[in-house]
Amino acid sequence: MGSRRLSICRDFSLPFGGANLIGFELVTAADGRWREDQRLARYTALPTMVMQPLGVNREGDMDRRRSADQILKVYNTVAQKRSGAPRKRPCVWSLPIVGAVLFMAILLAAGVAAGASQFRECRVAIDIGHSLRDPGAISARGVPEYRFNRHMARLLLARLQQDPMFRGSFLVNETGEAVPLASRPAVAAARGANVFLSIHHDSVYPEQLSKWVYQGRLMDVCDLFSGHSIFFSAKNGNPEASLQLAKSIGNAMRRAGLRPTLHHAGRGNKVLVDRQLGIYAFDNLAVLKNADMPAVLFECGVIKNSQEEVKLCDPGHQQRLVEALYTALKEYWAGKSRNF
Ligand SMILES: [Zn+2]
Repeated sequence: MGSRRLSICRDFSLPFGGANLIGFELVTAADGRWREDQRLARYTALPTMVMQPLGVNREGDMDRRRSADQILKVYNTVAQKRSGAPRKRPCVWSLPIVGAVLFMAILLAAGVAAGASQFRECRVAIDIGHSLRDPGAISARGVPEYRFNRHMARLLLARLQQDPMFRGSFLVNETGEAVPLASRPAVAAARGANVFLSIHHDSVYPEQLSKWVYQGRLMDVCDLFSGHSIFFSAKNGNPEASLQLAKSIGNAMRRAGLRPTLHHAGRGNKVLVDRQLGIYAFDNLAVLKNADMPAVLFECGVIKNSQEEVKLCDPGHQQRLVEALYTALKEYWAGKSRNF
């Protein structure tokens, strides 16, 4: 049996009204026992500068440690029972000890139940593709891609936060700094993300471009291709879940009547793996490859297409895309939660 992984997040209310998120990841070892994945240990939702003067950091760490130990104990007790490991028959004199242990187990189980209800919460890291200085593609009318990405990412965040399941979701790179692609998933992991979704707007390849005049300026344009596309990396820390998330998004787009573009098929290292849903494997894409969590890059549409650019600026169309992404994330997370 392969190794299993479990993310646990717990929120603790703070005296000044905020919440201190602690989280840890459990993985199974070869013997089937659960242990904590130290690589991902110790994260918290509040900036250190807010936490340290209040002494919250240390307290949060202690709570994290205690919660991890409690939950590990219960999981490993269950794993031991399932594997049929021999247990000592209790002597009469040890009954009070057994009683005390049972009482502790009930307390721990209550703690796990509380943790389990919080576990169903999903924290989506919405990565705003590119930066202010390196804005990505330029639209048919000369608008930088970063501006499209930021607008859509904000709309999606607002939609997710209406649902308690996604209330902890957040944006990566809202200030537009030049955050390296490879470190964006680490930023997301440090803030306890369960899912990484990078938002982009698409371009075409140089030989597909033609020229048009917009507001007296000669601009690049290509009206041959339109539609969204979805990328995942088979080399990231969780490729199966990433593909599953990509499929959820593709299906939700399809149900919303939106069609994918296929112009990336066979270009560079991109491999079209699902023609109906517009899903491509792009294994070496740094922003996906370096993620341990399920990670997908979504191209909302082709801004080099003069018609689609207008559509992508239409609030009705934006809402349709956002609603489909929200539905996809909800369905993906519901399916994933059932597997535990
Ligand atoms: Zn882009």
